[in-house]
Amino acid sequence: MKAFVDQEKCVGCGACAEICPEVFKMEGDKAVVHATPVPEGAEEKCREAEEACAPDAISVQE
Ligand code: SF4
Repeated sequence: MKAFVDQEKCVGCGACAEICPEVFKMEGDKAVVHATPVPEGAEEKCREAEEACAPDAISVQE
């Protein structure tokens, strides 16, 4: 599984990094993916982060 953050859409709320720090971290006022592919065991939390992202900036590819 791979996760992506659309930097144009990200509003920097920090939710993804809180829900799934294994994959997302804040860099300045934007979130970035720091683990590709998504580590085993973090996949469910990664999907939760995708759902929690209000502006729909996160996409996940199986
Ligand atoms: S949850 Fe979405 S909007 Fe919030 S920091 Fe993460 S990618 Fe950006």
